[in-house]
Amino acid sequence: MATEEHSVPETKDVYPLLPLRGLLVFPGMVLHFDVGRPKSVRALEQAVANDHLIVLASQEDGQVDDPSADDLYGIGTLARVKQMLKLPNGTIRVLVEGLKRAVLRAFVSEDDLFTVRVETYDEPEDVVVTPAIEAMRRSVTQQFEQYVRLSRKLDLDTYATVVDMSHPGQFADAVASHLPLKVREKQDILEAFDIEKRLERLLQILSDEREVLELERKIHQRVRKQMERTQKEYYLREQMKAIQRELGDKEGRQAEVDELREKLAAKRMPDDVRDRVEKEIARLERIPPASAEGTVVRNYIDWLLALPWLEAAKSTADIARAERILNEEHYGLDKVKERILEFIAVQALTDKQAGPIICLAGPPGVGKTSLARSIAKSLKRPFVRVSLGGVRDEAEIRGHRRTYIGSMPGRILQGMRQASVVNPVFLLDEIDKMASDFRGDPASAMLEVLDPEQNRAFSDHYIEIPYDLSNVLFITTANNVYQIPAPLRDRMEVIQLSGYTEIEKLHIAREHLLPKQRTAHALKGDRIRISDDVLLEVIRHYTREAGVRQLDRQLAAVCRKVARAVAAGDAKRVTVTSGVLQSYLGPHKYEFGEMETEDQVGVVAGLAWTEMGGDLLLVEVSIVPGSGKLVLTGQLGDVMKESAQTALSYVRSRTRALRLPPDFHEKVDIHIHVPEGAIPKDGPSAGITMATALVSALTHVRVRHDVAMTGEITLRGRVLPIGGLKEKSLAAHRAGIRTIVIPKGNVKDLDEVPDLVKSEVEFVPVSHMDEVLRLALVDNPLDHAGGSLADEPWWADVWSDSRFGGGEAHQ
Ligand code: ADP
Repeated sequence: MATEEHSVPETKDVYPLLPLRGLLVFPGMVLHFDVGRPKSVRALEQAVANDHLIVLASQEDGQVDDPSADDLYGIGTLARVKQMLKLPNGTIRVLVEGLKRAVLRAFVSEDDLFTVRVETYDEPEDVVVTPAIEAMRRSVTQQFEQYVRLSRKLDLDTYATVVDMSHPGQFADAVASHLPLKVREKQDILEAFDIEKRLERLLQILSDEREVLELERKIHQRVRKQMERTQKEYYLREQMKAIQRELGDKEGRQAEVDELREKLAAKRMPDDVRDRVEKEIARLERIPPASAEGTVVRNYIDWLLALPWLEAAKSTADIARAERILNEEHYGLDKVKERILEFIAVQALTDKQAGPIICLAGPPGVGKTSLARSIAKSLKRPFVRVSLGGVRDEAEIRGHRRTYIGSMPGRILQGMRQASVVNPVFLLDEIDKMASDFRGDPASAMLEVLDPEQNRAFSDHYIEIPYDLSNVLFITTANNVYQIPAPLRDRMEVIQLSGYTEIEKLHIAREHLLPKQRTAHALKGDRIRISDDVLLEVIRHYTREAGVRQLDRQLAAVCRKVARAVAAGDAKRVTVTSGVLQSYLGPHKYEFGEMETEDQVGVVAGLAWTEMGGDLLLVEVSIVPGSGKLVLTGQLGDVMKESAQTALSYVRSRTRALRLPPDFHEKVDIHIHVPEGAIPKDGPSAGITMATALVSALTHVRVRHDVAMTGEITLRGRVLPIGGLKEKSLAAHRAGIRTIVIPKGNVKDLDEVPDLVKSEVEFVPVSHMDEVLRLALVDNPLDHAGGSLADEPWWADVWSDSRFGGGEAHQ
């Protein structure tokens, strides 16, 4: 027991004792409480029967109902019972006044009631107020004041009375009794007999208490602020709605914003995208309805909501089904179909785009787009097509920043929006027709699209949030693979489609194009009849192409006319004869076979490869008196010009064998004309054609009109292989040519040439220019060593002197 024996006076007495629960009464304190326990009631009764004095001692544990002497603190308060009131429920309400501290020395009785012998302690009257005591008193006053202000639990009067107490000990007790302290803490103060110690302890408790209060206040403030803000926002929103209503904009922005929020809630998207949309909607909400900025923000939100972020098509790759679809929708193309099926098989094994990207290459109308469509159908994925033809600006791929008015995402994300799933089959059409200029390089943007390493996070300037393209199956098409920028081409696996023979076109027309056009024009049953001969007439005289696009269009025109006749009631059904055909489509547009009808001097049928397929290329050479100029006209690329030079050099190297004057090239001007150009890179393959035309013109020997040729030439007349043999032979066959001179090195390519063409055309492989001349010219000038040629060239007299070894002609 922390008693300070020295200051306890020698007054000893015995009093009844009342145990207190959760309560402590300080000397000088008046308060009331209820008493119910029988032992306590008895103690009270005894006190009242004597001198009204009673000892109040707190229980260490308030939970104990029937405390023993050991459950009580050893120091209590001697108090006077001032009033007692029996309540209806049997308990007694008492009013007591604490008098002085009392040290419990011994329990006299414990059973019926507690009586106890105590030593009471009077507070010394004249305390020496040391500076330490005064300092602490001030401190306590200050802290107590703050406590009163913060807690607002005490009224100011009480505060004033407490602070006015002059006795520092009583002051400390009063302060302690007004604080909401635990019994343990109050007991601490009660046990401090020494005033200095009592103040010190109180100070300690007060400052702890104040910290707690401070913290409480802060928490409270924060909570209130938060609530205020929510309320304020709610209030402002309501106000805004009211203003909008006033302005007659009832539906206005709010309705728009509500609708967008609904859409957002229903849309599946990654969290970062959702956050972004939420932010933009909040922004939109604040923008006045008529402002241009509102439109920009609204468009952006629409785009983010419209793009597929997580939606995917349930894709399957069933090879048997794919094969059936490809065969149903396309005639022929066996090798191409085979390659495509292999490709689909690989797709079946992996989810993502596996391996290189397919590039379907070939002339227009050979079915590239429709093959891609079939691939999509086989994989059960949506199909989107974006044309890259003429794209020069990187922004067309990647979009414009939103700062531009009317800016939009690039074509890739436009395609994705159209697809509305993340895994469509995406056709990038005419990737070879992309050009780059000062506005940036679209090819490098395409590289990012097609690169599986990079397309996981494709960046579009408009959308700004990285977009995942890695589930897309990209397919590209090109007319000319060599014009695809090299880094892009490296990523592609080229599947070449070449063009169709007449027979193939006939099949395609009969089995695919015509049925489609019939349905499109609602020509059921046998409303339209058209024989193979007439179909062939369409193919031969109304189209000139490697593919079947014009053919499709002409058939559509025929169906249109028939539909009109049927609808007008002119006929129930129409049999399209050759006459009817000409009345529908006009006179023949193309003469079948472009080959010359007669053998001519200086005109040779070459064969060219173009983006439109193979083509017949008539090379003309004319010789006029002059001074040795070589003139080239027509669509000649630089490469073609070099070929012309090489051909001329070969002819000069054969001057003697051809019995030309040694200086012939100085006396004549040579004019070479190539009417329709092959692509510049294809120039070399006209080498032997130009050489043949040159020799024919110089020697005035005619060229066989039914022979066509293709081959590169060296200075010494060797014939080198060329590309595109299949297309070239198709074109020659179409033109009615029956003999084609080809380089020996190309014999292996004959495998690819359709059997029909091989059966009707003779392919003659050559390795030297001399062989070409022997085959192509009606009379081989090389065989006439010493003799004379059939016809003298009209300009022969120009050099006749030198030709026959002297004399001066035309002085
Ligand atoms: P491309 O994309 O190569 O320019 P398209 O795919 O647009 O050509 O083809 C033009 C038309 O010709 C389409 O209607 C297509 O179905 C049809 N077509 C092309 N090749 C074939 C074929 N082998 N079998 C059936 N139809 C074909």
